[in-house]
Amino acid sequence: MAKQTVAVDALTRLTRALEILPNVGPKTAQRMAYELLQHNRQGAEELIVSLQSALLQVQHCRLCNTFCEGTECTLCADPGRDPKRLMIVHMPVDVASMEQAHCHDGLYFVLMGQVSSAQNMDLNHIALDKLVNRLQNNDIEEIIIATNFTADGDATAYVLAQLLKNFPAKVTRLARGMPLGGELEYVDAGTLAQAVYERRQVK
Ligand SMILES: [Zn+2]
Repeated sequence: MAKQTVAVDALTRLTRALEILPNVGPKTAQRMAYELLQHNRQGAEELIVSLQSALLQVQHCRLCNTFCEGTECTLCADPGRDPKRLMIVHMPVDVASMEQAHCHDGLYFVLMGQVSSAQNMDLNHIALDKLVNRLQNNDIEEIIIATNFTADGDATAYVLAQLLKNFPAKVTRLARGMPLGGELEYVDAGTLAQAVYERRQVK
């Protein structure tokens, strides 16, 4: 018997594609698809073009691993930054929060994720290998662990502290002045700055 193939219509295909977005289930994806097709076809065109150009142009900075266009981001290329202090954060949004709080004039390393305490400390999705490379050829004096004050942020900080034992630099972590369960991106600039100034030594 000939194998039957089920053709997926264009609307279903679009809905399924939208479901890859975080926190978007089938119902929300369907609403988004209807909205774009019914009310915002121009917005949909812009979405296609901007997504295509971002996929082509955006890559990871060779030094700090954040998103950038070109091989190095503007922060890493800035000679005014203090290369002796390296702050490790989860995501590019955390770099933006720190920069808004004006409390760190050193460089960053962006893990692009966090260790999941619920999934047996899965390390594969954070950039530990790249971090180790980054630490090998420079004169960093202090490494500041600036992970979230959540279960996964604590798990990430623990993994980092173990890893950083092999390096000569002093290791510190943000003070727990932040609200419990605090994710850096939702903490106000004043509280964040305070947590950086009062950071405690881990090693
Ligand atoms: Zn960079």
